Amino acid sequence: PGKASQVKLVLLGESAVGKSSLVLRFVNREYVDNREPTIGAAFLTQKCHLNDRSIKFEIWDTAGQERFHSLAPMYYRNAQAAVVVYDITKSATLEKAKSWVKELQRQAHPEIVIALIGNKLDLVQGEPESECLRQVNKEDAQAYAHEAGLLFFETSAKSSENVDLVFAGIAKDIPLEHIVMQG
Ligand code: GDP
Repeated sequence: PGKASQVKLVLLGESAVGKSSLVLRFVNREYVDNREPTIGAAFLTQKCHLNDRSIKFEIWDTAGQERFHSLAPMYYRNAQAAVVVYDITKSATLEKAKSWVKELQRQAHPEIVIALIGNKLDLVQGEPESECLRQVNKEDAQAYAHEAGLLFFETSAKSSENVDLVFAGIAKDIPLEHIVMQG
């Protein structure tokens, strides 16, 4: 008791897909429309209890802007987990997410747990015509994630749907021996 496993987690993805909003939803249980964009990177921690494990996430939220791309390896190099986010209403953001996955699989720790997240699920729900806004088919993204060995979720930072599942799923998948124990 009192011991927590520390998990370094990095968020990657095109800018404006909702990375910061997902983290703020998970950590502060809040959602703010039209937030100011993250510049460079932001750092937050969150404890999470799963079965008999207590996990402290150290979350590095990186800016999606291309001019910060060269800084990304600094954040993912010794990360145990990566959350790669796209916006389900913008297919180009999935292409960007796939290129991050490729980069992680080439250059990050071989045991890194990667989750692919299709965010802004709320935008395609509700009115029947909302579904027209969807540009990324769920089954296609899921099939890609499965083939690439990634966890996969569709989420909404706005409605909070599935957000906690992402982090619980990651916590469950991290090999114990790849976790740093702290007092
Ligand atoms: P980041 O640049 O990837 O960190 O994206 P932000 O978290 O700054 O979000 C970009 C914009 O998308 C902001 O205006 C958010 O309010 C909005 N946004 C983020 N997540 C969601 C979501 O789940 N649903 C909707 N409808 N908008 C979202």
